[in-house]
Formats: sequence, structure tokens, C-alpha cells
Amino acid sequence: MEQYRPETIFIEKEAQDKELTRVILGNLPGVPVEYIEDPQDALGRVAKAQDPISDGKKLLLITNHPGTFVKKCPGTKIHICCNYYVINAATNCPLECSYCALQGYLENNPLMRVFANTGDMLNEITRFLDANRERSYRLGTGELADSLVLDNITGFTRDIVPFFARQKNAVLELKTKTDLVDNLIGLDHGDRVIVSWSLSPQRVIDEDEAETPSLARRLKAARRCQDAGYQLGFHFDPIIIYPDWEKEYRGVVDQLFAVVDPLRVSWISLGGFRYYPLLKRIIRRRFPRSKILCGEFVPCADGKLRYLKHIRVEAYRKLLDRIKGFCPKIPVYLCMETKEVWERVFGYTPDTERSLDFLFG
Ligand code: SF4
Repeated sequence: MEQYRPETIFIEKEAQDKELTRVILGNLPGVPVEYIEDPQDALGRVAKAQDPISDGKKLLLITNHPGTFVKKCPGTKIHICCNYYVINAATNCPLECSYCALQGYLENNPLMRVFANTGDMLNEITRFLDANRERSYRLGTGELADSLVLDNITGFTRDIVPFFARQKNAVLELKTKTDLVDNLIGLDHGDRVIVSWSLSPQRVIDEDEAETPSLARRLKAARRCQDAGYQLGFHFDPIIIYPDWEKEYRGVVDQLFAVVDPLRVSWISLGGFRYYPLLKRIIRRRFPRSKILCGEFVPCADGKLRYLKHIRVEAYRKLLDRIKGFCPKIPVYLCMETKEVWERVFGYTPDTERSLDFLFG
């Protein structure tokens, strides 16, 4: 996908006069626009579709966020939390990863939604950071959406990046699978913005990450951001186990460090493929040829299914060894894993009170 172009744009009354709405309309000339009183009017268009998830991605709703933008990343008591906060500036994603958890979370609300009340969002973030100036925060926009997939039409990073450049006690992570970094180049980021990519072997991209740019394109975009002075992050998440996984994931680490400077990497996360049982039905229906569910999965305490523990531990150890071979100092952490798995991979368990703050300085 080069640039997202919806079939219809719905604009809710309150969002009509917002600057973001004007920018989006300016970047999408010729796309039919409908002004609506209630988001249900737009949702009604996909309710009876054969595949509402797919049809919902073709409709863009511009609306005001009715609640709070900043939320703590949903960890659980059982799994070590990395003390991360999410900013929900948009929801849903036009890319088509078979394993995408958003398919389940947004099954009843499958439109692409962009929140136009950016001023409210920035005010809320300021209040949030002001409330505890002694603490350092990591925040990111990539939880309910890809951080950059809509940036060509919203120009959102032109607001949020300079905003974070002025913050003293926070960094912003922009997490993506795209190579849409044009807007980032030349912005004042004040060393407060980390641009990060989810990486997978090209085979996984071909089979389970439809519409996403190749590994080579993602790494090229990372290099452009490095050259523009940004710190970088990388996520091997979800790690998918198949006959050649070890060789191919090792190859991704080698490709990564052939392109980027390890000293510019702020963090790397590792996370095995995991899913709620609900997602199984959706994957089978929407991606019948995917082999992603062909593994040995066990139900875990948080209700998700994961690969057997010894398989996860082996995968994490092997990737960790390869990464540390390039640079022993890169902070590496596990996403949503148990104390026991941490202990077996790293030889220690983080203090859950402070969570992973110690890793990120
Ligand atoms: S890029 Fe991320 S948000 Fe988009 S479909 Fe893939 S997993 Fe989901």
C-alpha cells in the first residue's frame, strides 16, 4: 500500500471545523465526503457486509475523541509490565496482518477512525506529564493503529513530534511497519522521539503481513530516520515459529545491523505470537491459507494462547544472543512474558514495582 485512500470519508459534526479535518480533505481530493450526526450512521454501512473488518478499513471516520487519549498499556499481574503509556490518536489500520489483534478488539467498530481534536489531546498529555515531573515516561501511538500509516494524509507527526521535542520528562515512540517517514525528516524532534519498526523475515511478511512494505523498505526507512537524527527501536513481535524460523530471524538481525548503527537503537523487544481464542475464528475466516495457527499453543493465565514455554524461551535466547553479538548494551526486553520466562532468558527478573524503567534510563 503506497498511500491509504478510503472509498468514503465520514465527518462527524463536531469535527467539521477542525484543522486536521481540513488537512485530510486537502490530501484526499476526489474522495466522496458525507457529513453525519452520529457515528452509527457510518457503522451502519458495514454492519451487513460479508467481511465488515475488510469493508470497515475502506471507510474513514473523522470524529472527536470523547474520552481520554492517554492510557496505561494494558499489562496483567502475571506478566511483567514495561510501564508504557499509549496515546490513542486514531484507531484501526488499513494493512492486513493475519495476526492483527485489532481485528478482535475492533470487530464491532471496524471503521478507520481519526480523532480531530488534536488540541485536546496535546493539552491532556501536558497535564499528564505535569502531574509528575519527577518521573520519566515512555508513550506511544502504535497500540490501536500503526503510528505512521495515515501520516501522509493527516500530517499528525508535524504536531506531535515538535510537541514532544519540548518535553523534559517523556519520550514518544512512533511504531510502524511502513516506510512513510517523509514527514519526519527535518522536524525538530529534540532527541525525544524514537521511531520503531516491527520486523519479520520476508517469508512472514509475504505470508502473514499483506499490504505491508518489505523488510528492505522498512530498514531503508529506519536508516533515513537515523540519518535525520532520530533514535530507533525495533520489535521482533510477533515471533512466529516455523521450520526455518531460526535461520530466517537470525538473518533479519544481520540485515538490521548491516543498515543501522546499533548505538542508535534505544530498545528492542521480543514477543512470541499470542492471541485470544476469539482471534482464531477471525484468522480462519479471513486468512484461510495462513499457517500461523499451526503450532503448539497453550492457554495462559491472561486468557491468551502462546507457544509452549520452552519454545518461547529458546526463541528469545537465540535472538538475544544474536542481537547482543552486535552490541551488548542495547536494551532488550520481553513483551508480556512471565517472571519465569524472564529468569530463564536473562537470568534475572525485573522488579515489578519499578517494572522495566531501569532498562530505559
Ligand atoms: S500493521 Fe499492526 S495494526 Fe496494522 S494490520 Fe498489521 S498488526 Fe495490525
